Amino acid sequence: MVKAPKNIAVIGATGSIGTQTLEIINSRPDLYKATVIAAGRRVDDLIELARRHRPAVAVIADVTKYNRLREALEPLGISVAAGDDALCEAVCRDDVDMVVTATVGYSGLAPTIAAIKAGKDIALANKETLVVAGEYITGLLAESKSRVYPVDSEHSAIYQCLQGEDKADVRKLIITASGGPFRTWTADRIARAKASDALRHPNWSMGAKITIDSATMMNKAFEIIEARWLFGFEADRIEAVVHPQSIVHSMIEFNDGAIKAQLGLPDMKLPIAYALGESRRLAGAEKALGIADYANLTFERPDADRFPCLTLANVALDRRGNSACVINAANEIAVAAFLDGRIGFIDIYRIIDRTLDTIPYIAKPDYEDYVSSNNEARAFATSLI
Ligand code: NDP
Ligand code: MG
Repeated sequence: MVKAPKNIAVIGATGSIGTQTLEIINSRPDLYKATVIAAGRRVDDLIELARRHRPAVAVIADVTKYNRLREALEPLGISVAAGDDALCEAVCRDDVDMVVTATVGYSGLAPTIAAIKAGKDIALANKETLVVAGEYITGLLAESKSRVYPVDSEHSAIYQCLQGEDKADVRKLIITASGGPFRTWTADRIARAKASDALRHPNWSMGAKITIDSATMMNKAFEIIEARWLFGFEADRIEAVVHPQSIVHSMIEFNDGAIKAQLGLPDMKLPIAYALGESRRLAGAEKALGIADYANLTFERPDADRFPCLTLANVALDRRGNSACVINAANEIAVAAFLDGRIGFIDIYRIIDRTLDTIPYIAKPDYEDYVSSNNEARAFATSLI
């Protein structure tokens, strides 16, 4: 039974997914209440959100912003805390029923682990958690009462398609990709792309890091890895297909050849609401798709020659161990450097590839191994820039 209102912790509250999550929570006070909100560094945005949503606690990861947060929010009766450990403690509070992991990158790992160990349900936006440590997280989930509801639109689509179906009847998961802003560009032109080009996503409005990941198609590689751990399908049964309109959010193919898909506008409100509602539908979560307005829904094979990051999904899932953790760390460093104009677009792949070749392989990483692999890969990738 779903408790109402359900108490939600939104970590990464100031970001693209975080703010949309808070809008949904705000629109249904009968169903949801934001009890914890947390952010990385943007303290003024967090203060603004706390004034509007009145959580019990606001947490900022950057400890240098603690005093500013305290001065603004304590007079309102809102508790404040700062630092990574405080973030992990906040998601485990007794008054939290579900944690929305909307932080970006590796920073999602520790609070997600803490939430799973505390038995909290997870609305998982932070795909990097499953990229970095999918096997480890799957093991923790097997021993916890936590349930994971995917927020990523493709995984939400697959999750929706799987409702009422027997997984044994499913042959393949087909993950759609928009192809990003460089889908039709030549390799030469892609090599000269600037951050401003890469940030111009044709269909989706998202945070900067995932927008660059979409341009390199690293995002799709990450989503294949994410699907592997969410749904338990091996890599050879997960396929990416380019669908430039971003209307078909993903599909499943059955043994009898039938394909089932979920369609909608490119708007994260629907998958966020579906995760918050534990697979119950929220009327009006998203504007209806006027299907007759879409005369052309097209599909094509992705081009790994122009987008080599795509191949890293299979590399990571073949090698397992700490490989995807290393890929993720190198990617985070490379993307930040590209956004700062310090490296070119194709250097992103080169840096990941060299880092993966250099950092020692660990076959069965424990949590400390992920921490050290992440640190070593970041340091090495930084040395290449
Ligand atoms: P944004 O960059 O818009 O927001 C990231 C959020 O994470 C901000 O609130 C930021 O806080 C916070 N944050 C950053 N570093 C830390 C840290 N060390 N500790 C705590 N919080 C931190 O990202 P998005 O909303 O676009 O993406 C969030 C996640 O959702 C990503 O994993 C992404 O892959 C995934 N996702 C996003 C989609 C989208 O449409 N945006 C679609 C599908 C998945 P601050 O800004 O204050 O530093
Ligand atoms: Mg996605």
